[in-house]
Amino acid sequence: MDFGLSPEEEGFRQELRAFLKKELPPDWEGEDEEGSDEIWAFGLQMRKRLAQKGWLAMHWPPEYGGQNASRIKQAIFVEEFAYFRCAGREIYGPYIVGPTLMLYGTPEQKAYFLPRIARGEITWCQGFSEPGAGSDLASLSTRAVEDGDDFVINGQKIWTSYGHRADWMFMLARTDPNVPKHKGISYFLLPVKTPGLELRPIVNMASVHSFNETFFTDVRVAKKNLVGRQNEGWYVAMASLNFERSGAEYPGQCRRLVEDLAEYARETRRNGALLARDPVVRNKLAERAVEAQISHHLAFLVAWLQDKGEVPDREAAASKVYGTELIQRLANTGLQLLGPYCQLEPGDRWAPMKGRIERIWLNSFGRTHAGGTSEVQRLIVATRGLGLPR
Ligand SMILES: Cc1cc2nc3c(=O)[nH]c(=O)nc-3n(C[C@H](O)[C@H](O)[C@H](O)COP(=O)(O)OP(=O)(O)OC[C@H]3O[C@@H](n4cnc5c(N)ncnc54)[C@H](O)[C@@H]3O)c2cc1C
Repeated sequence: MDFGLSPEEEGFRQELRAFLKKELPPDWEGEDEEGSDEIWAFGLQMRKRLAQKGWLAMHWPPEYGGQNASRIKQAIFVEEFAYFRCAGREIYGPYIVGPTLMLYGTPEQKAYFLPRIARGEITWCQGFSEPGAGSDLASLSTRAVEDGDDFVINGQKIWTSYGHRADWMFMLARTDPNVPKHKGISYFLLPVKTPGLELRPIVNMASVHSFNETFFTDVRVAKKNLVGRQNEGWYVAMASLNFERSGAEYPGQCRRLVEDLAEYARETRRNGALLARDPVVRNKLAERAVEAQISHHLAFLVAWLQDKGEVPDREAAASKVYGTELIQRLANTGLQLLGPYCQLEPGDRWAPMKGRIERIWLNSFGRTHAGGTSEVQRLIVATRGLGLPR
């Protein structure tokens, strides 16, 4: 692998940085406050601006509103966006639903959804996990039963991120309970405001309402909103997992955090001595900086392999485990550096780094779980990467 960027890719990085510096307010604190209405509203505006630049779905073919951008360019975009803590990148539409529809959608589904996703007009949420089906997703028990031109859905989903902000949900339900579990599942799209669909908030341990429980009571979904063939939804969903991201957001976030902590150490005295002169502090920060660079290389390796037409599942698993666990280690380094001050609330004028470190620490645990837990990612590396028995 060539670790350098081409002049065109480097030029794109510079253009993107200049754009983000110009677009973000000078006092921008960023996505750590992701639960707030203000940040959400700003993110929607930013999404439209990204769509105008052609960056929202840049990796799509031009006929659907994309630029056929390489995965490396896309990874640069994701990494810089995370570095700036910018809000507004829609993950599900451009990265999962859109590519899924390109493969399995009807002409009508493509014509309706793809332009709207590329223009940043639809917010999606994912209705996959259930109280009894997470890592073992195929055990899901939410039922969809045919009735005339519709399916009628009953059951429960959980951890529906941003369901309360979303316009549409892509979801899985069991359409045939009498066949092996992977074979009786179908993939649906439905408006979140459909009668009978009820969202109940879950507030996470960082006091942020980002996900929900979702209850379905006789929810009617038109048959035209079935994606792929009935009972083949598992394979539709698995294909969409192959569009998974490189994990470039993790090194972006980590690089920024290492820089912020280094600045804090340069400016802060403890017991009369500058933190930046403390050998333990220097050592820890240097260690995290090296790890952030490793995370960058893992993510860009995934993107590079994708550009070569490969499906780098074990590399993507390694990138996810490494990146999400690094955020935890880094936040922990931050907690040690700040000491008890890290507990001051974001609004407190004495809170170092605007109270961000504790938030990142608390949010970091969900990230090693969401989208496939660290244990499951390690299983992928062990079996598909190292050839160990299942
Ligand atoms: C922040 C966040 C956002 C999320 N957003 C969404 C969303 O928008 N939509 C959605 O559908 N879901 C969402 N999820 C759910 C997520 O996909 C699941 O949490 C995840 O798939 C794990 O499932 P589970 O929580 O049921 O845990 P379980 O699968 O019950 O796992 C429990 C523990 O057992 C371990 N384990 C399970 N199987 C194995 C195995 N075979 N070998 C070794 N260890 C194993 C796991 O690693 C874990 O530590 C979100 C989760 C989080 C944390």
